[in-house]
Amino acid sequence: MVDLPPAGGRADGTVLVIPDLPGSRRYVYTLCLLAACTACLVLLQAELLAGLLTGSVTLALPIAALAGRALLLWVQESVAARFAASAKEHLRSRVLRSTMDSAGAQTTLVTRGIDAVGPYLTGYLPQMVLSATVPLAVLVRLCIADLTSALIIAGTLPLIPIFAILVGKHTKRQTERQWDLLSRLGGHFLDVVRGMETLILFKRAGAQARIVREMAVQHADATMKTLRVAFLSALVLELVATLSIALVAVPVGLRLLNGSVDLETALLVLLLAPEAYLPLRAAGTKFHAAAEGLTVLKNVLELKEKAPSVAVNTRPPDLRTARISLEGVTVRYPGREEPAIRDFWLTIEPGERVALIGPSGAGKSTVLSVVLGLTKPSEGRVRVGDIDLREIAGWHDCLTWVPQRPWLMAASVAENIRLADANATDVDIDRAAAAAVLDVSMDRPGRELSSGQRQRVALARALLRRSAPLVLLDEPTARLDTQTEQAVLAASRKLLAGKTALLVAHRPALLPETDRVVRVG
Ligand code: ADP
Ligand code: MG
Repeated sequence: MVDLPPAGGRADGTVLVIPDLPGSRRYVYTLCLLAACTACLVLLQAELLAGLLTGSVTLALPIAALAGRALLLWVQESVAARFAASAKEHLRSRVLRSTMDSAGAQTTLVTRGIDAVGPYLTGYLPQMVLSATVPLAVLVRLCIADLTSALIIAGTLPLIPIFAILVGKHTKRQTERQWDLLSRLGGHFLDVVRGMETLILFKRAGAQARIVREMAVQHADATMKTLRVAFLSALVLELVATLSIALVAVPVGLRLLNGSVDLETALLVLLLAPEAYLPLRAAGTKFHAAAEGLTVLKNVLELKEKAPSVAVNTRPPDLRTARISLEGVTVRYPGREEPAIRDFWLTIEPGERVALIGPSGAGKSTVLSVVLGLTKPSEGRVRVGDIDLREIAGWHDCLTWVPQRPWLMAASVAENIRLADANATDVDIDRAAAAAVLDVSMDRPGRELSSGQRQRVALARALLRRSAPLVLLDEPTARLDTQTEQAVLAASRKLLAGKTALLVAHRPALLPETDRVVRVG
């Protein structure tokens, strides 16, 4: 029954995974020690109870044994709770550090999924350890007291795991399906929320709501099926255990009547027999609560950690003297066959202003993102002076950036501009807004602004960081009216004056401000 996963943490078809987590070895050893103590107390308790019933022992002793078991249970539960808390924390950070392709699935895993690991670690795992120790101790004791009963128990005990595995095989498929549906639901829901504006615009929000509802119904169905199987299997295990105990009890009763066994031994057998089946039965029922956690644990242990990043500790070189060079940079986005840019070479001298031109989709924004350090080259590298960009800490303090589609947070315009410099005073912000020709009230919610206004909020942000020696500017493709366009261009010119710059120029208006034009794609 105990089917340990092979090295590497894969757990297909297993019912027990000892997770490879900090402290898990100690946890399992502690559980084994506690289980051994429990086994001793089980024997002692049965012995004392039998003695009590035959009149050779006072009541206090069995009660003390019972109290001892309660104490052990309490210790075991607190140890388990503490380990589960630290394990969940570790698993969460492991998920967050991993390369997952869907943020929605990651969210489901970090929130709900990892909580499901709790019942596995605190309930099922300790129960499995008990199942391996208590029945063994009982069997050894009964071999000494009454060999026939010991043989009957040894013969029927494996029936419980066999039935549990048979039912479990069915459950496993169910829980995996339930989990799969839940992560897909989470992923889809997040995508829908992110794209809500677009969906409403194209009148697709209703259809999406229907899809989410359908997925929720499927998930509810799968959950009900899992529960049904769980209840049914609990019943089956109960039945097997009860019949097995009857197989032990009836012969002992008969032998007691014909005098071939004494009363104390018969009582010991009757008291110990249920104890032999109990841990396995409990493990069987706890398995269903733990099955989801087991699936999650399996998934998390299979996640690949992102490649460890290079030591980031070098201070940025002085951009007044250091050139920025892209050396054979290729960027492949996940899920895309064609690289967004291929073997791209570019050197930006100190103080030089370079314009990137090229058709839409040529990879201009990607080049900017690579220089920003937000997109890592799949091949090639970026160097600033002699230093690889990946090794530089605080690179973003050297630059100011205007993205193609500025993102505004749900706060006032002033707060949105302040993103660039948390210490900026209101006067600084007003000055930056004026320089960006942004003529809206600073208290308005940023989300209400038009695309031209958003563009100028982004410019104001960039202007707030006047001291940054490098400007990265992704000129908007959105069609602005002539007046707005002139305002944006004027502000862009102010931003570029006297800086090293890399800009995407969709229109020729900014080209006179630049020293060199590079075609992408
Ligand atoms: P440009 O700015 O020149 O219009 P981009 O750099 O935005 O071009 O995009 C270059 C290519 O990479 C396009 O085919 C685009 O669809 C793809 N691309 C851009 N960003 C992503 C992304 N995050 N994931 C996948 N593909 C992307
Ligand atoms: Mg672009």
